[in-house]
Amino acid sequence: MTDRIREQGGEVHLSASVESITVEDGRVQGMNVRPADSSVERKIFDAVIATTPSHIFPRLVPPLTKDYAERLASVEYMAAVLIVLVLDRPLSHVYWLNVADRSIPFVGVIEHTNLIGPEHYGGKHIVYLSNYLTTDHPMYRMEQQELLDEYLPHLRKINSDFDPSWVETSYHHRVDGAQPVIGINYSQHIPSHRTPFEGVYLANTTQIYPEDRGTNYSVRMGRAVARLVMNDLE
Ligand SMILES: Cc1cc2nc3c(=O)[nH]c(=O)nc-3n(C[C@H](O)[C@H](O)[C@H](O)COP(=O)(O)OP(=O)(O)OC[C@H]3O[C@@H](n4cnc5c(N)ncnc54)[C@H](O)[C@@H]3O)c2cc1C
Repeated sequence: MTDRIREQGGEVHLSASVESITVEDGRVQGMNVRPADSSVERKIFDAVIATTPSHIFPRLVPPLTKDYAERLASVEYMAAVLIVLVLDRPLSHVYWLNVADRSIPFVGVIEHTNLIGPEHYGGKHIVYLSNYLTTDHPMYRMEQQELLDEYLPHLRKINSDFDPSWVETSYHHRVDGAQPVIGINYSQHIPSHRTPFEGVYLANTTQIYPEDRGTNYSVRMGRAVARLVMNDLE
């Protein structure tokens, strides 16, 4: 995807954080961006599409109108804690296992290499343990080793032969705005892609209702917002 963007004259900056979106007289000017290992740079743009969760967006822009701020605040998010295990052998033959047993401290076991074969991963077997919780949950705050100590014994319920020595490497991630929780009458509260600032757009997972969060819907929304921006700029 990066190659395709660059072929068409675009630029991709990895590990660069947007500190703020600059607005003057109600119109976008650009962004203050901190590139990796460098100081903040001011960049000029005709339009900015923010893809942050709704609770992050107000921190990047000047004060929003009351109505738009309330729309953003009308959705709460579940957070997620993710552990990815790299195993030297398969855990099971199942690709996607939802776990509804509350004695098990995670909600999904996705053995990715049962869908896309281990030959694509140097012969390793990739297992993703997913968990959705609130940011004040003790497991959200746990460090990687604490989570592994908590999780791994339960993998024996899936494969009684499982042994922690099968784990060659593991990865730990936290996502605070992982899953929007949609309340009643939400169709009347969805924030629009056009924000109160001309040239500043918002496109995130709270705006795909009535669908639930998914990559396919985000791609569809990305195309729709790109068309909206192009039309507005004409
Ligand atoms: C745990 C989890 C599991 C999921 N599982 C599935 C699944 O199985 N199938 C499926 O279809 N979908 C799944 N999804 C949903 C899917 O990941 C999202 O729908 C999709 O990634 C949304 O795309 P996006 O581009 O809108 O946002 P994102 O992919 O979230 O991209 C937004 C980007 O903005 C960056 N960003 C935020 N703030 C700043 C800032 N200030 N400066 C610079 N960059 C910033 C973030 O780092 C991020 O890279 C899952 C999501 C989560 C969290």
